[in-house]
Amino acid sequence: MAVIAYLALGSNVGDRAATLAAALRALADADERIQVVRVSTWHETDPVGGPAGQGKYLNAAAAVHTTLDPLALLARLQEIEQAFGRVRTVRDGPRTLDLDILLFGDQIVAHREPGRTLLVPHPRLQERLFVLEPLAEIAADVVHPIFQATIATLLAEARQRLARRREACPGRELSGQRVLITGSTSGIGRAIALELAAAGADVIVHGRRSAARAEEVRRECQALGVRSVALLADLRQEAACAALAHQAWQVWQGLDVVVANAGADTLTGEAADWSFAEKLQLLWEVDIRATVALCRDLGQRLYDRGDGCLVTMGWDQAATGMDGASGQLFAVAKGAVMAFTLSLAATLAPHVRVNALAPGWIKTAWGETASAVWQERACREALLGRWGTPRDVATVARWLIGPNAAFVTGQVIRINGGAVRG
Ligand code: ADP
Ligand code: MG
Repeated sequence: MAVIAYLALGSNVGDRAATLAAALRALADADERIQVVRVSTWHETDPVGGPAGQGKYLNAAAAVHTTLDPLALLARLQEIEQAFGRVRTVRDGPRTLDLDILLFGDQIVAHREPGRTLLVPHPRLQERLFVLEPLAEIAADVVHPIFQATIATLLAEARQRLARRREACPGRELSGQRVLITGSTSGIGRAIALELAAAGADVIVHGRRSAARAEEVRRECQALGVRSVALLADLRQEAACAALAHQAWQVWQGLDVVVANAGADTLTGEAADWSFAEKLQLLWEVDIRATVALCRDLGQRLYDRGDGCLVTMGWDQAATGMDGASGQLFAVAKGAVMAFTLSLAATLAPHVRVNALAPGWIKTAWGETASAVWQERACREALLGRWGTPRDVATVARWLIGPNAAFVTGQVIRINGGAVRG
């Protein structure tokens, strides 16, 4: 069956206009099952990423009518790229000719095979003005099958986001970054949401079931001059976890940062009276399984898109041990999260930075009501002689996500006043 596919063309070496024109002729001649039906004007653009000093690009978009399947079309495009002398060397480096499939009807393709990977819609389409501007000339009303938004809308959104990013400056360094923070209706999660909003990030607040509390934090974020949306999902349910990842990705056509903060409360909530086995089960489902599922899902999306940052929540004493049932429970849950984080960092490099924060004695709901014995212990164990606050964690999260931590990945960063050292 014939479909309309949209292609991107780019060149920044040699006679670029001649190359684009010749590439279009080559496309029409390559296979009788490809017909070029519409072509945009040529757009001169600055290179994005890649080595410094490469020349400006000439970009265009084309609509083709084809009966080929997506992989066969990719193969034709690669043959043409090759014929024009393109050699793949450095990522985002100079090229005589780049031909990408942007859209293939309303199909979603995720074919991963070394040298023959094909992701359609193109995973960076919604981020790149040099793709969206020519594409909008010939396909303004075409609907992106993942984001369910038209190309004209994606272009307007991308322009707005990139303008916000250009405003990023010290004190507002996360302007235009899109962030999901799970478990952000209270405690450390809420503090992180507010801190990142204060830094200019658009924030998706997530809560388990209280729409009212999620809405309250959403409003607090919005009051800091950013966009904010609240989503509810009970992460004990695997399907809800996948749905949250999907929904969060849809809100602003992708995310830049995910803080997987949600953890079960086995100390003060309804689970406080549960048996050890029941608490262990709850921690397995929420702290471990949901964190792993969410980070793998969104981590893959960030990786495909080409950049991003993931943060998980560990615990400083998982490495050294703490007496009692809670010590055993958190050692399992948070030890697993920290170990997972390091493997994920290795998996998603070099595109996505992945780190864990490991808070120590932080005064959240439990700390507020803990007995005098615990109050004394928390202050005695910390070299700094006090409880940590949620904001102590949030400010480190802000640094870790921001531009000043660009070379930090695969780390567990303790925030504990020196209680556990080394
Ligand atoms: P880019 O076009 O993003 O600058 P390259 O052209 O250097 O990157 O990379 C091309 C690689 O991307 C090829 O290995 C190809 O298999 C893969 N790829 C994945 N999705 C697409 C797509 N939609 N169109 C073209 N190439 C794609
Ligand atoms: Mg390409």
